[in-house]
Amino acid sequence: MEDTISAVATAWGEGGIGIVRISGPKAKNVLERIFVPMRQRPIENRKMTYGKIIDPQDGSVVDEVLAVYMKGPHTYTTEDVAEINCHGSIVALRKTLALTLQWGARMAEPGEFTKRAFLNGRIDLSQAEAVIDLIRAKTDRSFDVAMGQMEGSISREIKEIRAKLMDVLVNITVNLDYPDEDIEEITYGTLESQLQAIEDDVDKLLSTARTGRLLREGLSVAIIGKPNVGKSSLMNRFLRESRAIVTDIPGTTRDIIEESMSLRGIPVKLIDTAGIRSTEDIIEKIGIEKSREALNQADLVIFVLDGSREISREDREIADGVRNKKTLILINKADLTQIVTESQIKQWMPESRVILTSMESGEGVKEVEDLIYDMVFEGQVTQENRLLITNVRHADLMKQAKEEIQMALSMCRRGEALDFLEVNVRQCFEALGEIIGETVSGTIIEEVFARFCLGK
Ligand code: GDP
Repeated sequence: MEDTISAVATAWGEGGIGIVRISGPKAKNVLERIFVPMRQRPIENRKMTYGKIIDPQDGSVVDEVLAVYMKGPHTYTTEDVAEINCHGSIVALRKTLALTLQWGARMAEPGEFTKRAFLNGRIDLSQAEAVIDLIRAKTDRSFDVAMGQMEGSISREIKEIRAKLMDVLVNITVNLDYPDEDIEEITYGTLESQLQAIEDDVDKLLSTARTGRLLREGLSVAIIGKPNVGKSSLMNRFLRESRAIVTDIPGTTRDIIEESMSLRGIPVKLIDTAGIRSTEDIIEKIGIEKSREALNQADLVIFVLDGSREISREDREIADGVRNKKTLILINKADLTQIVTESQIKQWMPESRVILTSMESGEGVKEVEDLIYDMVFEGQVTQENRLLITNVRHADLMKQAKEEIQMALSMCRRGEALDFLEVNVRQCFEALGEIIGETVSGTIIEEVFARFCLGK
């Protein structure tokens, strides 16, 4: 029999209300000990009741609360659960929590409520992990994706692939164990097409991991260009506030300015660099080194040119530094008389996208945003599609699964013995099982739930 756990489920701090949550066989009992409902009515299942938390030892009133008891199994943990809505005061919460601990509950570990939901089979491991992502999500899109995962989007997909793998395993096993029986003999041809179909499925799912990573970590965009071309102005346009200093004097953006923003729900880290060029100024040199670093890590480089001036040697030097990066070139100051033309840039850097912009009028800014958005989703995911691999653990296991199935596939093509390639098929099956927690070790479960906050 599990013991009964208790914790403050809301954030510590001042607030309208704060909730103490109790889960386990003694939940009702603990509540009855410390909660006195108005007019002394008995506590009913799933009925929110107004009353007082009273210390049974001295009869003192701790807080005025609303409390509810929910009988399992249709609860968050599947166990009996009680929730006490205290005033959002640290003192009230601390005292109420202490009473629950005194009268039969023990302090919950971080994530223990969700862990119980997993161990009791209500959700699988990928769904439990989505709960953390949901709590931590900072933008609409990451929240949506976590919500989809919590509802089982990944689990469903994984289970389908595993069912196909199981079919293959059964077929192989039957052929190995009963070769003389009157069973349809497995041919390498059908096996190959089955394995190929599985590989395609795994691949498709894995290909969402890049987008998933960007959603989790944010797309990092480095803005480069020589002084005075409009980098800070671009940043300000994006941020719609004036944190980066816009100035007419070249070289005053000395350090890197990093800003986070949400672009249509995608987290974007904007890095405004000091511009990469040679200088004797020590402070600028530090800035320049940092710029190089930032540049190396960026997912996208936005290279800003001043369209009203000739391309200079400095522009060319900067361009040379980003040849191997995904680059978007802005011909800025489109509101002024243009000297630089789009075709000139296309000839010069044929790999890059070019957009005419004006930070003065806002021309082209939306186009830049569109392009960043498309880059993240690569046209593969629509707004409605919430199935994305966002979790590193899942992505690693998917990669492992892919390697195993590829190995099985090439063995099949070479016509190797069935019991050899069976090993890889099985390992693929198990790697996928680890994602949803079906073939997973205790240590991994501990690690997953250690990431949770207290009371969840
Ligand atoms: P940075 O040094 O590259 O960060 O450039 P800033 O953003 O500080 O801009 C330098 C100067 O150019 C400022 O006076 C801006 O107001 C001006 N500027 C920036 N973008 C435009 C533009 O599109 N059109 C015009 N006319 N001026 C601009």
